[in-house]
Amino acid sequence: MSENGITMVDENGMRLDGRTAEEHRPIKIEAGVLKNADGSAYLEIGKNKVLAAVYGPRECHPRHMQNPTRAIIQCKYNMQAYSVGDRKRPGTDRRSTEISKIISEALENVVLTELYPRASIDVYIEILQANAGTRCAGLTAASVALADAGIPMRDIIPAIASGKADGHVLLDLNKEEDNFGEADVPMAIVPGTDEIVLLQMDGHMTREEFDRAIEMGVAACHEVSDIQKDALRRRYSAEGCE
Ligand code: UDP
Repeated sequence: MSENGITMVDENGMRLDGRTAEEHRPIKIEAGVLKNADGSAYLEIGKNKVLAAVYGPRECHPRHMQNPTRAIIQCKYNMQAYSVGDRKRPGTDRRSTEISKIISEALENVVLTELYPRASIDVYIEILQANAGTRCAGLTAASVALADAGIPMRDIIPAIASGKADGHVLLDLNKEEDNFGEADVPMAIVPGTDEIVLLQMDGHMTREEFDRAIEMGVAACHEVSDIQKDALRRRYSAEGCE
């Protein structure tokens, strides 16, 4: 039973939604879903539904933001008013500004920005339905959308959260586990090297629990990476048949 008296993991180690500790929610990714963007992707993980669209590289506006040596990545994470149970106040807030910043910074680790001085690569992430884990879902979708846009990258970033609920280290917390749990650790890696390019922690864990959460997260990121690559393969084999 968790600190607040709610049982989220039963005596057999099963979670309320029937998953084991190390299991992520079902993931579905489709690349190239929007005709008017340079690249796009739609992603579902459990009850989360996310759309990512990419424009660019194109001339950076406003001009004072241009970098003469490389492109900048401008990500805009937006949670729709209807994406959560209680209507969310539309527009930018501190949370969305933070998430946009950390996703841009994660992507700058893999995009070959030095190829496009003074340019901007614009990444739009729309959360259509939220059930915890949306920053990871958004980054995973954005990486596929960048690849779909043909933007040169040294790898495609997968992301997933792990955390702690009801005293157990769990992968990919759902909304209930996130709300009533003890900690949430979103992370993203470069799968080719296992470099961590996004890591946050909200809550408390022991050092051992944290190490376990990272180990679980990295292993799951590799699974997410395979799903991303499958989505891109499907997109381009379908295009070949058109
Ligand atoms: N959430 C919400 N309203 C908000 C922000 C978040 O209902 O204004 C919910 C939403 O389901 C989200 C979850 O809280 O997925 C967890 O939010 P958090 O800030 O931990 O980010 P996330 O886990 O989505 O990356």
